[in-house]
Amino acid sequence: MKIGILALQGAFAEHGAMLDRLGIDHFEIRKREDIEKPFDGLILPGGESTVMGKLLREIQLYAPIRALIQQGMPVLGTCAGMILLAKHIEGGEQPHLATMDIKVVRNGYGRQLGSFCTTAKYGDISLPLVFIRAPYILSVGNGVEILATVDRKIVAAQQGNQIAAAFHPELTDETRVHEHFLSLVHR
Ligand code: GLN
Repeated sequence: MKIGILALQGAFAEHGAMLDRLGIDHFEIRKREDIEKPFDGLILPGGESTVMGKLLREIQLYAPIRALIQQGMPVLGTCAGMILLAKHIEGGEQPHLATMDIKVVRNGYGRQLGSFCTTAKYGDISLPLVFIRAPYILSVGNGVEILATVDRKIVAAQQGNQIAAAFHPELTDETRVHEHFLSLVHR
């Protein structure tokens, strides 16, 4: 199994460290040629979604990555990565990959409340969740399963091969979210 981590900007190295802990082979996707070799799953990290969305288009990664996801490649989008997946962004902003039927609110906790930690259930276990200028999910379409909520806001969801999390599982010791993603790769 080999996982590609989008490494244009943001918190990609931390996802790599998490996969190292789990003993999973991975590589960084920085340019068009990087996705020509075969791989089994994709991580879209946190960072700044507008910057990543722009770079994806500029270096011709947009269409091939979108196609891989639409063909069923398992993908984990965290924070800005979740925004990249969303079909709708509150406020009328242009969506990016637009493969997942969710509507997200960017900087959903206000710019003042930059980051915070809390605990919530992800599936049936409690996890520490780290939020950094995080978005949340305002609404989900048919076929989207809600995986976690904090204060009645949706912060993680799954639609088939796509998992989106508003928080940063790569910044905690908990491997649960990555293991859930990897279970899709084994499918
Ligand atoms: N605020 C960022 C955005 O809108 C996301 C923050 C993050 O990924 N930690 O793209």
